[in-house]
Amino acid sequence: MTHVMPTYSRLPVTFVRGEGAYLWDAQGRKYLDALAGVAVCALGHANPDIAKAIADQAGKLIHTSNWYQIELQERLGEQLCRVAGMDTVFFGNSGAEANEAAIKLARLYGNNKKLRNPTIIVTEGSFHGRTLATLSASGNRRIQAGFEPLVGGFNRVPYNDVAAVRQVAEHNPEVVAVLVEPVLGEGGIVIPSPGYLAQLRALCSERGWLLMLDEIQTGLCRTGRWFAYQHENAQPDVMTVAKALGNGVPIGACLARGEAAHLFQLGKHGSTYGGNPLACRAALAVLERLEAGRFEERAARLGKHILAGLTARLDGVKGVKQVRGKGLMLGIELDRPCKEVMLKALERGLLVNVTADKTVRLLPPLIISDPEAGQIVEVVSDTVRDFLGVS
Ligand SMILES: *Cc1c(COP(=O)(O)O)cnc(C)c1O
Repeated sequence: MTHVMPTYSRLPVTFVRGEGAYLWDAQGRKYLDALAGVAVCALGHANPDIAKAIADQAGKLIHTSNWYQIELQERLGEQLCRVAGMDTVFFGNSGAEANEAAIKLARLYGNNKKLRNPTIIVTEGSFHGRTLATLSASGNRRIQAGFEPLVGGFNRVPYNDVAAVRQVAEHNPEVVAVLVEPVLGEGGIVIPSPGYLAQLRALCSERGWLLMLDEIQTGLCRTGRWFAYQHENAQPDVMTVAKALGNGVPIGACLARGEAAHLFQLGKHGSTYGGNPLACRAALAVLERLEAGRFEERAARLGKHILAGLTARLDGVKGVKQVRGKGLMLGIELDRPCKEVMLKALERGLLVNVTADKTVRLLPPLIISDPEAGQIVEVVSDTVRDFLGVS
């Protein structure tokens, strides 16, 4: 009997080793990884540069606590703010914690203005994490059910609907922020209309609200730019990053700019592990590699290539509703629940994921080669056609 609480349904495979875009199971079978630990291992498994940085740091100093100066945290803060165009950062250990920090910033912003019920506008279909505040912010009933009472202060509108955001403002004078994902990740790779983020940016500026972007899945070159907001020049006031930041070492960051950058004063937030030397050393190595390899360009080019290949093979096939993607964040929406595709792909030696019930999701590592990208296209198309029963 397992002593681990059964919160996950797990595929029947155990990986024991990885290298680049490949994983090996306990029987020595090799798999091409088109999920990268859910957008985490963007630089591939057992990346030698990252492994070296981690090993070196582990042999020097892993943790001291935030009661002392941490030089690596200062350096990571500087590098991350530079690439993100932000002013300050708070480090935690996960995406959910980064969003918790963002939510607390919005509350402080409102409370400083003497608002009694500061409200954050959030969207349907969103995912922001599994802590109480972040699951309350998420637009997914399934992850909220059973945990009532939920955290209040969120006002939900449909995704990709600026008019709905404007309408909330007419009725609620206590709005302080808008929290959105630039592309819905867990929600099924939903890409908003061009101009969505730019219009939200303009509206937030006009009203004095904080634009808070959850770039935990989209950030760090995944969508073909360093951050997805750059596609529209929609510079946020608050932005959260995690997943790829440590290439597997747990770390999350909440970045802020302008007025929001100075809201967290002494004693307002904290984390025992947050920004420890080991995690910061790993993240510094990740940023250095991403910049040196121009991975945003790579993700844009390979993403186009995979999207074109999948579209050619699957568009118009009965049962396929839409093939879509932005950089190396791709989805194939079917007309029926398709969890089974994960197991069918596994049997063919490929790792993919199914999200929002009906969408096959691909988040390959950014280091995949052109032939590996081609292989993903072929195996995914064959698996989906096989699942749908078309030849
Ligand atoms: C994964 C994810 C989170 C939660 O991150 P955790 O590290 O699992 O807490 C939040 N927001 C988005 C958009 C995500 O993709």
